[in-house]
Amino acid sequence: MTRILITDPIHEDGIRLLKEVGRVNVKTGMTNKQLLREIGSYDVLVVRSATKVSKEVIEAGKKLRMIARAGVGLDNIDVEAAERRNIKVVNSPEALTIAVAELTLGLMLSLARQIPSADFSTKRGRWEKAKFMGMELRDKTLGIVGTGRIGRAVGYKAKAFLMNLLAYDVAPNKEFKEKTGCKYVDLQTLLRGSDFVTLHVALTSQTRHMISKRELGLMKPTAFLINTSRGEVVDEAALVEALRGKRIAGAALDVYEKEPPLSSPLLKLDNVILTPHIGASTIEAQREASVIVARKIKESFGLMIYSLPRE
Ligand code: NAD
Repeated sequence: MTRILITDPIHEDGIRLLKEVGRVNVKTGMTNKQLLREIGSYDVLVVRSATKVSKEVIEAGKKLRMIARAGVGLDNIDVEAAERRNIKVVNSPEALTIAVAELTLGLMLSLARQIPSADFSTKRGRWEKAKFMGMELRDKTLGIVGTGRIGRAVGYKAKAFLMNLLAYDVAPNKEFKEKTGCKYVDLQTLLRGSDFVTLHVALTSQTRHMISKRELGLMKPTAFLINTSRGEVVDEAALVEALRGKRIAGAALDVYEKEPPLSSPLLKLDNVILTPHIGASTIEAQREASVIVARKIKESFGLMIYSLPRE
């Protein structure tokens, strides 16, 4: 009987599917010591971001055949150590696309209309109509850096707001270009020509600090930067400098170089909107993330059984 250990809360629909694969134990909030003691008897470990699946945990998992991350980042899993032991690692990035794209649109509207500041002011009994003169998204240019799953979803939604699209990606997407009429350009041209720049690249050695002092210097002084990808894609110190000097109009960030950004100078700036890495935090995305990894586990075990020699 396949034994499955779930150590972070995942949506019950995924758990229900996993029960079709084997015996499931949900044990959230375990200490590392407890996990090291338990893991030895399980074939599959399912986590989200809280459980640290270190080399020690992987070595202690003598029977482990699969580690599943309901969600995207694999930063909490020592993938190399798992691969060395032939343990398959799966995740479910495809589940989060709409949630992150919708948050990005929300941040763009929040920047254009200063919604968070207007709320703050009105709740303090003020009525500052003149202060909150905003701008429309219609006919503005959105520059999308990275047209993968999320970047494209943002682009399709921005079209509904009648925006013009510029895009930059090492692998341009023909269908997206044809359907939206977006123009693929180099990064410099995108930065110079956009009213909003939104980042959706994966974090790699090439994209780390892809937006730094030089790139921020190319943006229009009236332009806004939105980052819902990974904090390290932006050189945060350079961004703080650009925001302080009003080199750009503002920014909205869901992700940070260090999370939570407790001692960051960003917290003191007026021209930035900050959210606590909530891109994937919707009921729908979490449900889908758990169901998708459960399906991947199911398929994988199905294939393993199928590939056994027949009598
Ligand atoms: P994806 O892999 O579908 O797309 C990434 C795109 O980046 C690809 O089209 C790829 O060609 C492009 N790219 C890679 N390197 C590049 C480079 N050097 N220059 C230009 N383009 C490059 O990924 P996705 O699912 O769309 O996710 C995008 C980002 O969103 C990731 O960084 C992911 O970690 C992040 N994310 C954040 C949250 C959140 O909670 N805020 C949730 C999910 C995903």
